[in-house]
Amino acid sequence: MSAEQRVKRKCTSCGINIAGMSAASFSCPDCGQQLHRCKRCRKQSNLYECPDCGFTGP
Ligand SMILES: [Zn+2]
Ligand SMILES: [Zn+2]
Repeated sequence: MSAEQRVKRKCTSCGINIAGMSAASFSCPDCGQQLHRCKRCRKQSNLYECPDCGFTGP
């Protein structure tokens, strides 16, 4: 049974499971894919990369 099969909210930057965390959700400015970022990555302004189109942004 793979957890990857389920739609889970993961931080787009560091990949941790952000279910239940106060994470930011936003749409990719390029393709509209729903992206999530955990509190820590948002604080550190880590770059994210859209898994769909490869867009990287702050
Ligand atoms: Zn993160
Ligand atoms: Zn995208």
